[in-house]
Amino acid sequence: MDSRKFSFYVKGMTCASCVRNVERNIQKIDGVEFVAVNLATEKGFVIVNPDIGFGELKKAVEKVGYELVESNESEIDILTKKLHTMRKDFVNALIIGAPITVLMIIHMFFYRIPYYEYFEFIFGTLSLLFPGRRILKSALIAGAHFHTNMDSLISLGVIVSYITNILHILGIHIISFGFLVPMLIVLHLLGRYIETFLKDKSIKELKSLMEMKKDTVKIIKDEKRIEVPLDTVKKGDIVVVELGSYIQLDGRIINGNAYFDESMITGEPVPVFKQEGDKIVSGSRCLNNEILAEVEVTGKDTFLNRMIEIINQAQSPKFPIQAIADRITNYFIPVIMLLSILSFLSWNLFPDIMTGIFSFVGYYLPWVPKDSTIMSMAIYSLVSVLVIACPCALGLSIPIALFIGSSTAAKNGLIIKDGEGIQSAEKIDTIVFDKTGTLTTGRLNIVENFIKEEDLRKVISLEKKSSHPIARSIVNTLEKHSNDILEFDEIKEIAGSGIYGKIGDDTYFIGKPKDFSNYEKFMENGFTIVEYRQNEIVEGYLVLGDTLKHNAKNVIDNLKNIGIEVYMFTGDNKKSAQYFGNLLGIDNIFGNLKPEDKLNLLHKLQIDGRKVAMVGDGINDAAVLKSANVSFAIGNGSDLAIENGDIVIIDGDLEKILFALKLSKKIFGIIKQNLFWAFFYNIVAIPLAFIGALHPLIAEVAMSFSSINVILNSLRIKKGE
Ligand code: ADP
Ligand code: MG
Repeated sequence: MDSRKFSFYVKGMTCASCVRNVERNIQKIDGVEFVAVNLATEKGFVIVNPDIGFGELKKAVEKVGYELVESNESEIDILTKKLHTMRKDFVNALIIGAPITVLMIIHMFFYRIPYYEYFEFIFGTLSLLFPGRRILKSALIAGAHFHTNMDSLISLGVIVSYITNILHILGIHIISFGFLVPMLIVLHLLGRYIETFLKDKSIKELKSLMEMKKDTVKIIKDEKRIEVPLDTVKKGDIVVVELGSYIQLDGRIINGNAYFDESMITGEPVPVFKQEGDKIVSGSRCLNNEILAEVEVTGKDTFLNRMIEIINQAQSPKFPIQAIADRITNYFIPVIMLLSILSFLSWNLFPDIMTGIFSFVGYYLPWVPKDSTIMSMAIYSLVSVLVIACPCALGLSIPIALFIGSSTAAKNGLIIKDGEGIQSAEKIDTIVFDKTGTLTTGRLNIVENFIKEEDLRKVISLEKKSSHPIARSIVNTLEKHSNDILEFDEIKEIAGSGIYGKIGDDTYFIGKPKDFSNYEKFMENGFTIVEYRQNEIVEGYLVLGDTLKHNAKNVIDNLKNIGIEVYMFTGDNKKSAQYFGNLLGIDNIFGNLKPEDKLNLLHKLQIDGRKVAMVGDGINDAAVLKSANVSFAIGNGSDLAIENGDIVIIDGDLEKILFALKLSKKIFGIIKQNLFWAFFYNIVAIPLAFIGALHPLIAEVAMSFSSINVILNSLRIKKGE
């Protein structure tokens, strides 16, 4: 059955428990197949049955206090907007917070300002009403649905302080903590602002592919050049490809010639010369001329759009260790609230013990108030515990590291589709390569042609239906022999074997030979043979020569050096495979495999306890890619391979595998550090706050710092070494 996909933006999430809440409530809807929400980018993605509309998702989420906005806006736009609001809130908070801070300093150290508590009240109220409103609202909405978030803690802290101010004004004997209201709000918003700023900065670097995309192109209409929106261009239109521009649509040159930079697509660093009749692919760049091209593929199906689509869907990969951290943060806030109440009660019930501990610690810590009443100390501790405990750092530890990891990958031409894959990548000990199109370029040339001229038309018509690299190469080279395409009654592609067509009672086939023994000589030299058969009788064959990717040997050597065992699984015959295996130094070669053979062999390796990575491009690799512990799909390979790969190597450059393995190690190293610091910080800070030995303002600064620290630490992932 068909399914629908929605991308959306979630407003109002502050921490990992919010993410869980949103996801859980969407999941509850019947017909939701997949949902993923990302805290770092605040974007979500769902796959649902076609009868579910966006309205239903929206309702389910609004019920628990968040807002869903359907959006294909990029992360960059969303975050930039958010950054603006944050900055506005922070500046407002500062305008209100600065005067009262000055007054407080004067009042405390120089001159007792009369009616000082009324100033506290005025500025506190203003803070709550303006910059603080969003924080209170978020806490209220969460509270109304029996859950808590970061804003709940800050709001409680602020409200308790505000109440002490009012009680003090009413003449009750209690220290006023009114100044804390504007100041906590300033610091909280500053922390948030810095956090968003850093996120924004890291996201903006995820430009590469997105940046190539333009909204308009120039086409020729009635002999005039006009600029039109990209989505109005149709197949058959003539586009002008200007010097230096990125190609937006797939097509064929009809006038002019130029060098093209195809490195994004094929990984080939050397520019390729193309002339009339040659294909051009979106995402490549025209380097030294202007050409005219006829459009062949538009819309979603262009190479560039397919890659961008994968990136968009890969925005919210789920990573297994995330679940553990989520569970912890889920209990975290309620536990903190309980602790803050406990500390309040301890001061009132066991004043002697608390004062004892406190004066011992207070002796070493200069900021601790020495002569407060018990009640004031109780409140002081309560507020400190509320603001110090930071589920933010804990909640951010994993998503931000993964996000920066995925962006770094994307910038280097790798799309991480599945989190579990990249998490396993650091542990693999075996790697399996497919041959054609993976280790080799898949741009085969026809070395010898033993197919009769009159049969070529059938061969080309059949191969036009296939996306196999062999098929593409045959079509590209032999197309000149036949302009008109035969229509078949029935077409069937058999993965790893070839393609059948039927007209009336006659069947035509191009693909793997039935009997290899006739071609021994060719195969020993690494050539690939495809046979043309009519009604299962061999009518001719082609000898095709493939070349290794330029750095294949180097990559294999490197993999072996780090102790990974290398295998080759190919559908091609064993002799040709052996030829390439010898060049590459691969000892474990399995040839002539059907897709299910590849899968069985993989399972055998896994049963032996190996952690296996698979690299492949073909429809015959899809099942293996899906079952491997981590899989790499080649970007210009088949859609099915891309769909089943965990990581897509856009340009097919094998060196990126090494990069991915390193990146995986790095990401998980950083995550462990982040978690350590987030826990360590809470474990040290909460007891201090509990006994009243932590100033609430220091607590708030430390709290913000711990989140910022997590982001800064995660940014280290970007620095490749
Ligand atoms: P590999 O596993 O090395 O990538 P494949 O399994 O994709 O190779 O292909 C195995 C063999 O099947 C090829 O060597 C070729 O003989 C044949 N084959 C598969 N698809 C096609 C096709 N569309 N046209 C011609 N031959 C094909
Ligand atoms: Mg292949």
